[in-house]
Amino acid sequence: MHESEPSDDWKWQIANRITNRQQLEAYLELTADERAAFDGEIPLSFAVTPHYAALLKNDALRRTVIPTGHENNFGTGELADPLGEEEHRATPHLIHTYPDKVLFLATTFCSTYCRYCTRSRLVGKSAAGLQSLEESFHYLETHTEVRDVLLSGGDPLTMSDTVLDGILSRLRKIPHIRMVRIGSKVPVVLPMRITDELCDILRKHRVWLSLHFIHAAEISPETQAACRKLSDHGIGMVSQTVLLKGINDDTQTLVDLFYGLLEINVKPYYLLQCDPVRGSAHFRTPVEKGIQLIRSLHGNMCGLAVPQYVIDAPGGGGKVPILGAEQIRRDGDDVVFINYEGKEFRYPDPVA
Ligand code: SF4
Repeated sequence: MHESEPSDDWKWQIANRITNRQQLEAYLELTADERAAFDGEIPLSFAVTPHYAALLKNDALRRTVIPTGHENNFGTGELADPLGEEEHRATPHLIHTYPDKVLFLATTFCSTYCRYCTRSRLVGKSAAGLQSLEESFHYLETHTEVRDVLLSGGDPLTMSDTVLDGILSRLRKIPHIRMVRIGSKVPVVLPMRITDELCDILRKHRVWLSLHFIHAAEISPETQAACRKLSDHGIGMVSQTVLLKGINDDTQTLVDLFYGLLEINVKPYYLLQCDPVRGSAHFRTPVEKGIQLIRSLHGNMCGLAVPQYVIDAPGGGGKVPILGAEQIRRDGDDVVFINYEGKEFRYPDPVA
């Protein structure tokens, strides 16, 4: 019989997170640049669960969580708050940008911190306490235009069952809220958190999960089991993938990831252009590259596996699906468009 290890327990994983260079060196040999980054000022929060640290022999994954000197280089147009969220902060916990959708920042804690995080200004830093949630619930109760709440942060699935159940119960008592989603990387970095008890809570409140995957190497046996358990409990799952230079910006890497996700019942939803957060220049690809990649995917895999390529408009304009400028044009009574092979096709669409 399989004896459960302490490391199978999510609270053990959080209590034993790797938070400094010495602990990390027990898992892998650091490069000179990585060592120098730890010896200097690290502008972004650093922590990795033991589960994810064991995957860092993969170079792509290692670059997403281990600091390097690049983080201290601030490129043109980069901002601490690239999406202008602070201008739309309605309460200490709520960002209200779109008319019908609200972002609910439930926690600033993540079990593992990504170096390209849009909210690196907040994650791992102190934040409004749970006692101020009441003001946020009151806001949601009185703003009847809100239909969709995305719980995010930080990672809400790092909260206890009791706290999460309490927040979700309050949200589900508000009749005009029709959709509750949770944004999380927990099934990837802390898969043992996906317990039957947690699944029961998510099912009870009819929650959709918006998961964050960047590479097929993240789909470990534990992550497969976690996603299958969520699926078996009837939890809908989609994924968001940030396009990252030298990490996942080639067709085969994305094909492997997106097929891998479908195999664990996660629908690839967004391929996100990396937000221009401060110190992210080394992660960002040209937009043209994203357009080429998404076009190549349409020729290489089933449509269900292909996500939408979007840019989250800097300043708070929302997510905008991106097509190449030349991809569609009008020619008299036809619409002319270009397929994944670069060939032109016509659709009859008479001008009324
Ligand atoms: S899990 Fe999400 S919120 Fe947490 S550091 Fe990564 S990108 Fe940011």
